[in-house]
Amino acid sequence: MSKKSVKSLPKKTLKKRSSVKRVVAYNHARTEKKWQKKWASSGIYEPNLKTAKNPFYNLMMFPYPSAEGLHVGNMYAFTGADVYGRFKRMQGYDVFEPIGLDGFGIHSENYALKVGTHPITQAKISEKRFYKQLEMIGNGFAWKERLETYDPDYYRWTQWLFTVMFKKGLAYRKKAVVNWCPSCKTVLADEQVIAGECERCDTIVIKKELEQWFFKITKYAERLLSGIDTIDWSEKVKIAQKNWIGKSEGALIQFPISHSQLSIEVYTTRADTIFGATFLVIGPEHPLLMNNELDINNEEEVKEYIKVAKKKSEEDRMRDKVEKTGVELEGVRAINPATKEPIPVWVADYVLGHVGTGAIMAVPAHDTRDFAFAKKYWLNIVPVVEPDAHADTADDMAVRLRKSIVDDDEAYVGHGRLVNSGPYDGMDSLEARTKIIKAVEGKKKITYRLRDWLISRQRYWGPPIPMIFCVSCKEKGAGERKDMPGWYTVPNNDLPVMLPNIKNFRPTGNDTSPLASVKSFYEVVCPKCKKMARRETDVSDTFLDSAWYYMRYPSQTEKKRPWHEGITKKWFPVDMYIGGAEHAVLHLLYVRFFAMALYDGGMITFEEPFQKFRAHGLLIKGGSKMSKSKGNVVNPDDYIKKCGADALRMYLMFLGPFAEGGDFQDTGILGITRFLERIWRLSHNVHSGKKSVFEKDTHAAIKKVTDDIANLRYNTAISACMILLNAFEAGKNNVTASDVKILLKLTAPFAPHMTEELWHMLGEKKSIHVATWPAYDEKYLMEETYNLVVQVNGRVRATIEMPRGSTREEAEILVRQEKRVMGFLDAGTIRKVIFVPDKLINFVL
Ligand SMILES: [Zn+2]
Ligand SMILES: [Zn+2]
Repeated sequence: MSKKSVKSLPKKTLKKRSSVKRVVAYNHARTEKKWQKKWASSGIYEPNLKTAKNPFYNLMMFPYPSAEGLHVGNMYAFTGADVYGRFKRMQGYDVFEPIGLDGFGIHSENYALKVGTHPITQAKISEKRFYKQLEMIGNGFAWKERLETYDPDYYRWTQWLFTVMFKKGLAYRKKAVVNWCPSCKTVLADEQVIAGECERCDTIVIKKELEQWFFKITKYAERLLSGIDTIDWSEKVKIAQKNWIGKSEGALIQFPISHSQLSIEVYTTRADTIFGATFLVIGPEHPLLMNNELDINNEEEVKEYIKVAKKKSEEDRMRDKVEKTGVELEGVRAINPATKEPIPVWVADYVLGHVGTGAIMAVPAHDTRDFAFAKKYWLNIVPVVEPDAHADTADDMAVRLRKSIVDDDEAYVGHGRLVNSGPYDGMDSLEARTKIIKAVEGKKKITYRLRDWLISRQRYWGPPIPMIFCVSCKEKGAGERKDMPGWYTVPNNDLPVMLPNIKNFRPTGNDTSPLASVKSFYEVVCPKCKKMARRETDVSDTFLDSAWYYMRYPSQTEKKRPWHEGITKKWFPVDMYIGGAEHAVLHLLYVRFFAMALYDGGMITFEEPFQKFRAHGLLIKGGSKMSKSKGNVVNPDDYIKKCGADALRMYLMFLGPFAEGGDFQDTGILGITRFLERIWRLSHNVHSGKKSVFEKDTHAAIKKVTDDIANLRYNTAISACMILLNAFEAGKNNVTASDVKILLKLTAPFAPHMTEELWHMLGEKKSIHVATWPAYDEKYLMEETYNLVVQVNGRVRATIEMPRGSTREEAEILVRQEKRVMGFLDAGTIRKVIFVPDKLINFVL
């Protein structure tokens, strides 16, 4: 805010407002710095973690300190979370709002590589920069408990938790086909592959067979799924998790191969369509093909096809738009167990031979991919599910349907009534499903899409996985766990396994971490037999760091244990968590799994870590996503310098509903700046000693702002404050200090610095941020008139607008003049009048 705006007021206006005091312009830079210092020294944002009476854990996702500094998108999320925290604090809660840095991992390391600095050095630089910015935005952070995931005091416990997972049988090592990012030169979890590309660098991910560490998240698939219904989370995140877990209830069904003892097992969720299964498809990796068990007439052709298929990436094979290819296994026929008809068997690479049973029953009429395949190779298409229940005979329907499918060029994938299905014709598909599974001797089976969490990374910047492998013990079959001979966890006393400061930290690209070439790191003594053994050289995934950070915050000062039991009981589960929806099946899924595992281990008392989670919307600029290449990135520092953190905070929250995000515009922030200037001026011109004449306005505003903040509708809460200010300005000669204080309280969560300054200017001694949130009284919110219900003999005949508080006599007079009622009253003699004030009047004839 500049002095200019006050100076430039025309002289005439100033003269007219002779009673208005000359107000010194607001200096945001000085005021914001002053209060940030005072808040830190007075500790108003530091609840006593052991004795707090009314704990409220207000959490936001901690940032990756990888880029040049805090992004305005971070600030948007943090401000939104902070507004909520400040609101709760004023409602009397002991709010704990911690912050830290998610500074380990590929994100930060890639940035260090980009700018050519060692990750250890870069971490220090980023840390300083981020914390300075995080102070400037004016959040009520509990700074004492801040943490960094690359701090040995922190990752010592990350490593310890890994050993716990190993001991509980939830961490294991196995050879598997995994995702590999050729650019990041490391494996990735399934969750980090978005549409076939690396989540961090957008490079197309390839498949590699490697031995890796996994966490058994699949063991928790059902609980992760059913738990979703018990938590108050943004709906889109809940849906994303449900889909990712991907529970399907289906059946395993055998299709015998004719003239042989063999059969092909398929898994299907649509057993109701089995009468339409006109061919089988097996993947090129299917064991029957691998082991040459089938009598195939065109063997050469099939072998050639398999050779080509195996060169393609899985992603390519699964892509919907790619044209499907395949070869018929000539001479091989399978028997459809429902129709008893022999059907052809094909090999095609759109089926993955090593996933599920590696074979499918193709139902072209009711599956899009099967349909495309059948059309291409002129295979039989038999519709067996009719979307519309009512209609003619089954035959008619079938003919019509078949025609429409072939003509419409698409499969009908929905449910309906069965046709062409022998004894099941006319039956509902869901009902038929169970009956058919039984009839063909299928086995019901539940499957999940969720795969185990791949935890190892062949990178430098992460916590070394605290495991030791001893060849000598392995040969003897010894080991900490029977199923993993040779493997030992690093003893607790030896933790942390420090990440060494090495020069060659760059990813190697040869399937190992840079630590694999550091002899002094990997050469260790076996904890059991004391012979030379080898330390694991991979580091763990960043998402392990963030899977438990929220538990460490309140126990940050604990040296001997990861968390303090009493504190943990008091503060968990987290009351409110705010962050991005893009973490729906990454962080937000891992963190739930991790809590469940620790809960089962008796280490914590809650199963779901976050009672309430709200996803914030995305901030865009000029209609598109902010990106450096578009040159539309907003640097919060510039705006804070120019307009102040208060103005930027309030502007960000004013852009739209917090859950939906908004479009940042340079001109928009000026409107907010002016609004704050007006509050500043008004607060300097209050009148003392008078009773408020604004009760209706203030109470309406309190109600609206209270409801809106509680539901994260910050934009409309700010509008309500604007409306209140307008009312004050319209009657400015009557505005009292108490009136203004209400407005200051309502705006305090958005503009914490300026409201604090004015609050003290008006004589208050304590911080506005621990003042009591104003309450409203319904009596001021009532309308002056109401609709009186008029009944004759108990039946409603009219409603008439009446002044509130009218007496029975006044009401009767008005009602008797009402034409709509007169006719009814004239029909007899009034014997009795029942009157309920402000509600109804009933004439009994
Ligand atoms: Zn990558
Ligand atoms: Zn040993």
